[in-house]
Amino acid sequence: MAVVYYTPIDSKTSINDIQKISYQLLNKIIEKEEIELETYIPLKVHFGEKGNYTYIKPEYYMGIINFLKDRNIKSSYIETSVLYGGNRNKSDLHLQTALDHGFNQLPIIFADGEQGEKYAEIEINKKHFKSCKIGYEFLKYNQLIVISHFKGHTFAGFGGAIKQLSMGHASKGGKLAMHMGIKPKIINRKCKQCKKCLLQCNENAITIGKKSFIDLNKCVGCGACVSSCPHKAITITTVKGVLNAIFQGKNFGEKIVEYAFAAQLHKRNIYINYAVNITKGCDCEPRKMKPVISDFGILISTDPVAIDKACYDLSKEKGKTFKGLHQLDYAEKIGLGSQKYNLIEILNNNVD
Ligand code: SF4
Ligand code: SF4
Repeated sequence: MAVVYYTPIDSKTSINDIQKISYQLLNKIIEKEEIELETYIPLKVHFGEKGNYTYIKPEYYMGIINFLKDRNIKSSYIETSVLYGGNRNKSDLHLQTALDHGFNQLPIIFADGEQGEKYAEIEINKKHFKSCKIGYEFLKYNQLIVISHFKGHTFAGFGGAIKQLSMGHASKGGKLAMHMGIKPKIINRKCKQCKKCLLQCNENAITIGKKSFIDLNKCVGCGACVSSCPHKAITITTVKGVLNAIFQGKNFGEKIVEYAFAAQLHKRNIYINYAVNITKGCDCEPRKMKPVISDFGILISTDPVAIDKACYDLSKEKGKTFKGLHQLDYAEKIGLGSQKYNLIEILNNNVD
């Protein structure tokens, strides 16, 4: 059974305490599970889209950075560029966004080159993909600390370690392969023509008017518009209808799991999930979002499925049941990890 170490926090927990907890949770798992550390361990992070305010800020990572420094382990931030337009779709823009968001503590590596051209095909021979396009630079490292923000996600239901491994490690071609088949549609009778969705679409795919519509030739299926509509007028569908949409949604969950499987193959990763600022949408969405439940903790594990399942279960206890359970079932089925876990709670003042 997988082990997940967990320290509860709340919105009043200070940044100093969050850094201390992160440091000591890392120490705890390494001691307890006798993890051998590499001499260079990049931190897989998400820098947050410009205009998003709920991504995990770099101050949260200082406990992890200090932990590595204290052991003379070299590190960097590592990330890939996104599929859609905006401020993270090329390495130069993405770097500027990262620096604007305060990520200046470590060198920054863009694993898939300037705009997604550098990747390796990782063979997995699974249901949806025979091979996956993973950012080339990831291949250089045997061990990463994969840091994830646990929160909701328009298509996946929720996002945590699995999402960070999959979408976060895939090159643009890989991201496109996962999104393929998912397209949003505007329900005209619900559309109030408020134009909030226009601000989210970096592809200029949305036209709002008497008859609002999305140009499927321009849309890359990023999903940002869906959760931005206050009137629930944008729905996930495909050209073939609602049944197909459900099918594609399920497929999307399975596709991200297969990419996650490819990304962690032959690695000895450590996963840290921050369950704070738990919003309905993800950190790629360039807008302010309110949390749907209160902050509940920092979790660490060597199993990406167990840590996500633990976050899912704790969210449910807090009153928020996310969609997307199928991704965990499928992840367990293909051998990415285990949904059975032993949750070891380490109180802040007991961490030593
Ligand atoms: S956000 Fe929703 S209601 Fe507003 S214009 Fe877009 S589709 Fe219509
Ligand atoms: S999903 Fe929505 S926001 Fe994203 S590209 Fe398509 S229309 Fe634009």
